[in-house]
Amino acid sequence: SKPIVAIIGRPNVGKSTLFNALAGQQISIVKDTPGVTRDRIYADVNWLNTQFTMIDTGGIEPSTNDLILKSMREQAEIAIETADVIIFLTDVRQGVVDADFQVANMIRRSGKPVVLVVNKVDNFKTMMADVYEFYNLGLGDPMPISGNSKLGLGDMLDEVIKHF
Ligand code: GDP
Ligand code: MG
Repeated sequence: SKPIVAIIGRPNVGKSTLFNALAGQQISIVKDTPGVTRDRIYADVNWLNTQFTMIDTGGIEPSTNDLILKSMREQAEIAIETADVIIFLTDVRQGVVDADFQVANMIRRSGKPVVLVVNKVDNFKTMMADVYEFYNLGLGDPMPISGNSKLGLGDMLDEVIKHF
């Protein structure tokens, strides 16, 4: 069967936007309100003749007890377990926040291969300096993308399929 790639990250970092860009259609709901994607959503993706199944997940917010966030965190944990490769999505506009370190620890504990991706880098010339901060997560080289503008997606997918 095909490898499974799960997109994991805090609410509002742009997981569903990225998922839709890679799926080539609007499957997942994108909202300015965090936490809209409550179900795991699947799509088949084909990159350079390599096929995989991609999962969009709800967000992770480990520091709160809110029930919706708790259920999304549980979904993300299931997604990490299910995944062959994890795309850990972060947000350059918010920078590295405490919840990112907590998610990084969850992923590290899983032992699964991870590609650390920094989203919302809408301008690769002016915003790259802010990407380097994400080295602090200790998960290797942060890859800049813009899900909205579809920048950097090819390089990101090249990195993902190296782990199959
Ligand atoms: P999710 O909660 O992680 O699934 O995030 P969404 O995909 O729902 O996106 C949350 C918000 O971030 C929406 O307003 C998106 O339009 C916005 N967004 C997503 N990707 C980008 C991007 O590359 N650049 C910018 N500037 N905004 C983005
Ligand atoms: Mg979403």
